[in-house]
Amino acid sequence: MYDPKSKHAEDFINHEEILETLSYAEANKTNAELIDEIIAKARLKKGLSHRDASVLLACELEDRNQEIYALAKQIKQEFYGNRIVMFAPLYLSNYCVNGCTYCPYHLKNKHIARKKLTQEEIRNEVIALQDMGHKRLALETGEDPVNNPIEYVLESIKTIYSIKHKNGAIRRVNVNIAATTVENYRRLKEAGIGTYILFQETYHKESYEKLHPTGPKHNYNYHTEAMDRAMEGGIDDVGCGVLFGLELYRYEFAGLLMHAEHLEAVYGVGPHTISVPRLKKADDIDPDAFDNGIDDDTFAKIVACIRVAVPYTGMIISTRESQKCRERVLELGISQISGGSKTSVGGYADGTLEEDDVTEQFDVSDTRTLDEVVRWLMENGHIPSFCTACYREGRTGDRFMTLCKNGQILNCCHPNALMTLKEYLMDYASPETRAIGEKLIAEEMEKVTNPKVKEIAKQNLIDIENGKRDFRF
Ligand code: SAM
Repeated sequence: MYDPKSKHAEDFINHEEILETLSYAEANKTNAELIDEIIAKARLKKGLSHRDASVLLACELEDRNQEIYALAKQIKQEFYGNRIVMFAPLYLSNYCVNGCTYCPYHLKNKHIARKKLTQEEIRNEVIALQDMGHKRLALETGEDPVNNPIEYVLESIKTIYSIKHKNGAIRRVNVNIAATTVENYRRLKEAGIGTYILFQETYHKESYEKLHPTGPKHNYNYHTEAMDRAMEGGIDDVGCGVLFGLELYRYEFAGLLMHAEHLEAVYGVGPHTISVPRLKKADDIDPDAFDNGIDDDTFAKIVACIRVAVPYTGMIISTRESQKCRERVLELGISQISGGSKTSVGGYADGTLEEDDVTEQFDVSDTRTLDEVVRWLMENGHIPSFCTACYREGRTGDRFMTLCKNGQILNCCHPNALMTLKEYLMDYASPETRAIGEKLIAEEMEKVTNPKVKEIAKQNLIDIENGKRDFRF
C-alpha cells in the first residue's frame, strides 16, 4: 500500500500509486482548469506533489507548457541566481561484479580493460584535476567487495583530501558507489564526504530486476532503501537520479518525486540533488537496444518539471549531454555541471590511453576543457562557482534546506561564488577566460546589496588577487 512514511521500498515507491498517477496525468493532459490550478500552486514555490507534477509533465497545451518553462526559469533564478556549481567525476576502479545490462562495467564484459587506481595513481589524478581548477569531485567505482571494498574507498578519500598541489585543494568529495550498509555509510560520513549519490536507474521493479539480472545490485528493495540507510548512517545530503532511457520517463519522473517525498516525510529533508543522466553508447552497450530513449524536447520538459516540483533541490547534468543540450537545460533549472570530465579510470593524468586499454564508462558528448566550459558559462550569463562553503560550514541536510527554502541562499552564495571564481581565474584560467571573468565579477559585485557583505567580499577579492588562499569557501 502506498505510504510515503514507510521505510519499505514498495510502499514509498508504490507501483499501483505510480500507475494511478500516470492515468490521472494522461486523463488531465488537456484539462486547462486543473493545469491552471496546478501552475498557480507551483507559483507559490513550495513544490508540487508527484501527482500534480505528473500532470504538468503530461500537459499538451502549448501555452501552458510555455508557462511551465517560464516558471522553471523564474524559480531557477530566484533560488540559485545565475550560479552554476562545477565538479568532475573521478573513476577509481571499474571492477564490478554486477550484471547491469546497460553498463560496460558489467561482469561479463571481457573486452573492457579492468583497472583500479593505486593511492599513488589517485594522487596523480587529483593533481591533474587540481591543475585544471577543480575543487569538488564525484567518486565513482563499480561494485566489487574484493577489489573495491569500503576500506579502499575510505583510504582514497583520505588521499584526495590530503593533496595540496600549488594553490589546489579538493574541498568536497561526493561519493557515487553502490548501495551499502548503515555502518559503511557511517564510515563514509566520518571520512568527510559531501553528498552520497546513488542513481536508482529505474523505479520500475520488474524492469529493474531484468536490467540487473545478476550481482548484489539485483536486489531492488536493498537498492531503493539505500538512501534511508545513508540517512540512518548520518549522511544528510543524498543525491537521487534515474538513468533515462531504461523505462518510461513518466514512470521514472513520478518515482523520483515519490522518493523525494518519502525522504522529506521520514527525515525532514529531501534529496540534496537530483541527477538526470541519459543512457549513452559505451563499450559493449548500444543505447538503441533500449526502447525508452527520450528526445531533447522531452528531456527539457523533465528538467523544467523537476525544477518546479522540488525548487530547493539542486539538479545535476553531466558531460553525457552535448553543449547544445546543456545550454538549453541550464536555464530551466540545472544548478551543477561537470566540465573537462574523463569517464575512464586514470584518464586525467594519463591522457594517452592506448586504444586497447579503454576503460571509460560511456562516451562523453561535451569534450571541452574546464577552461572552455567556464568561459562558455560566463558568455551565457552564468557564474561558474567552485564554492563548497555550505558543506564546510555544516550547512548540509535540513540546515541547508532551511537556507534554501527561505530564499537566503542568494545572499551568501552569490559573493562566495564570485570569490571562488576569482581564485579560479587567478590560478588556472586562460587570459581570455580571465578577462571575461574579471568583467563579470565586477558587474555581479554590484548586485550584492548588503553593505557589510559587499565590503568583506571586496576585501577578499583584493586578498585573492594578492595571493591569499586560506579561505573557507
Ligand atoms: N557502481 C555504482 C552503482 O552501482 O550505483 C555507481 C557508479 S556508476 C560508475 C554511475 C552511473 O553511471 C550509474 O549509476 C548509471 O546510472 C550510469 N551509467 C551506467 N552505464 C551508463 C551508460 N551506458 N550511459 C550513461 N550512463 C550510464
